Amino acid sequence: MPAFAFDNTYARDLDGFFVPWQGAPAAAPRMVRLNRPLAEALGLDAEALDGPQGAAIFSGAEAPDGAEPLAMAYAGHQFGGFSPQLGDGRALLLGEVIDRDGARRDIHLKGSGKTPFSRGGDGKAAIGPVMREYLVGEAMHAMGVPSTRALAAVLTGETVLRDQGPLPGAVLARVASSHLRVGTFEYFAARRDDEKLARLVDYALRRHDPDLAGADMPALALFRAVRDRQARLIAQWMGLGFVHGVMNTDNMTISGETIDYGPCAFLDAYDPATVFSSIDRGGRYAYANQPRIAQWNLARLAEALLSQLDKDTDAAIALILPEVEAFMPIFEAAFVEVMQAKLGLAAPDPGLAQRLLDLMAEARADFTSTFRALAADLRDGGDRAKAQFADPEPLRAWLADWRAAAPDPDAMDRVNPIYIPRNHLVEAALEAATEGDLGPFEALLEVLEDPFEARPGLDKYALPAPSGFGPYTTFC
Ligand code: AMP
Ligand code: MG
Ligand code: MG
Repeated sequence: MPAFAFDNTYARDLDGFFVPWQGAPAAAPRMVRLNRPLAEALGLDAEALDGPQGAAIFSGAEAPDGAEPLAMAYAGHQFGGFSPQLGDGRALLLGEVIDRDGARRDIHLKGSGKTPFSRGGDGKAAIGPVMREYLVGEAMHAMGVPSTRALAAVLTGETVLRDQGPLPGAVLARVASSHLRVGTFEYFAARRDDEKLARLVDYALRRHDPDLAGADMPALALFRAVRDRQARLIAQWMGLGFVHGVMNTDNMTISGETIDYGPCAFLDAYDPATVFSSIDRGGRYAYANQPRIAQWNLARLAEALLSQLDKDTDAAIALILPEVEAFMPIFEAAFVEVMQAKLGLAAPDPGLAQRLLDLMAEARADFTSTFRALAADLRDGGDRAKAQFADPEPLRAWLADWRAAAPDPDAMDRVNPIYIPRNHLVEAALEAATEGDLGPFEALLEVLEDPFEARPGLDKYALPAPSGFGPYTTFC
C-alpha cells in the first residue's frame, strides 16, 4: 500500500466537528485518471497509485495507513434558505498532507458513499459530474484562479440512478487548502455553541492566516481576511466569464478557493444576466449577481461570528457591519485591476473598461475571444475584434481611445486565456467519458492545462459553440 504522510489536524484538533466514517466498499474500483504531477507535488507515489491500489484508496473502499476518514459537519444557506444541517453527505476527508511547497492540503473524496449527513441522498456521484469537476478545476488552476484541484477520478463499478437514467458511478479525489466553509461557522452558530465557534476561529486562523493568529479580535481579523480573499476570487471569476451556478454558503470557502464545480459554466456571448443552472430559476446566481451574492454570503459569516465579537449583539453588529459593507468597494477595486490587466493598460481606467463591457453586452460579443482579438489586432493592425460586433460602428471610438493608452498586447495574452472549458466541448467530453471513451476528455484537459499559449492545430478549442448547440443548461 503506497504511503501517505498524513498529519490530520482536523481530526486531532476539532473533536465534535465531524463523524469518523468509512467509504463504502466499491464493487469493482478502476482508476480512470490520476493527476500524476499533483500526486507527486503532494509527495505521493504516483507510479504505485496509478492502478488498482489507487483505485481502491480513492474510491474510499480502502483507507491507507494514517488516514482518519471523516464526514464534516456544516450547515448552509441554499438559494437563500437556511438548512441547519447539511454536512458531507457523499464525501469524506481522508486526511491532510504537507505538499512540496510546505502547504497543508486536504485529500477529500466525493462520491464515496452514504454518511450520517446523507439525508435522502445516495451518497454517490456519477462519472459525468466527476469529470466536469476534474476539467474545470484544473482549467481554473491553470488560469491562475485559486481552486480545489482534482487528484484522481475513479470508477466504482456500480451504477447510480439519476434523472437521465442509470449512470456509471465514480468518485473524485480532490485536494483543497481546507474544506472550511461559511457553512461550517453557521453550523455551530445555529446551535449557539460559542465554545466550538471560538475553536473554529482559532483553527481557521492558524490554518489560513497564521500571521493573524495573535490578533486582538481574532474573529474580526478572520472575517476581513476571508472577505478580501473572496473579493479577489470573484473579481477573477468575473474577468474570465465564469458562472459558479450554486453559490450557497456551504460552497464558499474560508481559504478563498473556488469549490464545488456543479452546474458551473463559462459565458460565451457576453450577457451579464446569464444563468446556466437548471435549478436556478430566479437567476439568483446569474453571472452579474456573483459579487452581491458573495457579499450576502459574507453577511451570513458575519452573523455566525457575532458571539465571538462581543457579548452584546448590538455592539458586535456595530463592529462587523462596516466590514461587510466594505466588501463592494474592495471587490470593485479588484475588478478594476482585473480589467486593467485584460486591456493591457499601464494605469487603471474603469470608465474605459465599462464602455467596452457595455458594447460587448449590446453586441453579445464572445467574452473570451474579444480580448484575444483586441490584442491580435494591436499587433498586426487587423480587424478581428470588430468581427465580434454585428455593428462595429460604436466600437470605433472606443478602439481609438483604448489605443491612445498604448496597451501591451503581450501582457494581455498572459491574462486573457485563448482556451477555456467551452460548454459544447465539455459536454462532448463528458458524454464520451460516460460511454467509456476518455479520448475527448484527455485531449481537452491537455489544451486547458496551457490556456494562454496559442498552439497550432487547436483552433476548434478556441471557438464558441456552433449555433446549433443552442442555449446551454447545466444540471447538478
Ligand atoms: P452540493 O450541492 O454538492 O454542494 O451539496 C449540498 C449538500 O447536499 C451537501 O450536504 C452534500 O453532501 C449533499 N449531497 C449532494 N449530493 C448528494 C448525494 N448524492 N447523496 C448524499 N448527499 C448529497
Ligand atoms: Mg457543496
Ligand atoms: Mg456538488
